[in-house]
Amino acid sequence: MDTLLLKTRDEDIELAASFIKEGGVVGMPTETVYGLAANALDERAVARIFEAKGRPSDNPLIVHIGEFEDIEKFNLVREIPIEAKALATFFWPGPLTIIMPKSEIVPSITTGGLDTVAIRLPENKDARRLIKASGCPLAAPSANLSGSPSPTTAMHVFNDMQGKIPAIIDGGECTVGLESTVVSVKDGVVTLLRPGGVTVEDLQSVCEKVVVCDAVLNKLKEGETALSPGMKYKHYSPNARVCLVKGEDKAFIDFVNSQDEKETVALCYSEDEKFINIPTIVMGEKEDLAAQAHNLFADLRLIDEIEGVKVAYVRCPEANGLGMAVLNRLIRAAGFEVISLE
Ligand code: AMP
Ligand code: MG
Repeated sequence: MDTLLLKTRDEDIELAASFIKEGGVVGMPTETVYGLAANALDERAVARIFEAKGRPSDNPLIVHIGEFEDIEKFNLVREIPIEAKALATFFWPGPLTIIMPKSEIVPSITTGGLDTVAIRLPENKDARRLIKASGCPLAAPSANLSGSPSPTTAMHVFNDMQGKIPAIIDGGECTVGLESTVVSVKDGVVTLLRPGGVTVEDLQSVCEKVVVCDAVLNKLKEGETALSPGMKYKHYSPNARVCLVKGEDKAFIDFVNSQDEKETVALCYSEDEKFINIPTIVMGEKEDLAAQAHNLFADLRLIDEIEGVKVAYVRCPEANGLGMAVLNRLIRAAGFEVISLE
């Protein structure tokens, strides 16, 4: 199958929507990362997403809607919890996914067999145009091969999905660059299952009680069930070994300078670069978490493009604000390997 690279003109969106109406899968830009979109209510179409990604069948998908009213229009849930309404008012359209009790209409394959469905109203206008033109909610996981870094440009999607899907809409670079924040809501409590562009601090400004699920920054214990099934898989990994390094500026610089320059790359802040003697990938300025989030997945993909690199040592961010989302992705890319120089 040839994979068309489409732009965002009306005729491009219409063509992409026609593939979706036929039960196909299309690469869709969103403000978080690119998604692999198909009709969320069509089992066969959703099965094609799992197949193209090589995604384990128990890892549920996020259902994307074009406007809040779509939840009722398509009868997606048994009820909209009151906390979900409050969160939607503040953060939709935007990078927040809310778990709700699913209706019978949502096929089990879409929700990985769970009784709940994850719903998001994206901010990206082209994503919403595609949803409207398709006339159905779109299930869309990140458009990468399962396990590899999420795509933040149409070319990233093309590299992973060429020949597997009929079309990709090129909507430019994703603005946020990290997947959405995922929360569940119950009895006045908001539980953070995956951090993203909407931070814990943002959630606390709307809901009094916000609990961060232990699995956000820690490895699941043997036999423990993941509240968010995606949490249990190794994720976002380049082929090279990734290792997080915790420590002050000088300690990090001395540490990477003592490594073999032919086999090692340092993922560092702009401020560190001139002091480092081995190859570097700059993640952004130290205080600019938005830039670090925006660049993260492209940086992880770059690691494998530097010849001979076997190990990437990465500066470990603090878990505040957007830093929690960056750390959540990095620690999984590193398979929880952290070196402390403190
Ligand atoms: P991705 O599609 O790659 O953005 O990943 C979607 C994330 O949302 C995964 O980590 C899933 O485990 C999580 N998710 C989706 N639906 C549910 C649900 N019903 N309950 C809990 N987590 C969910
Ligand atoms: Mg993903």
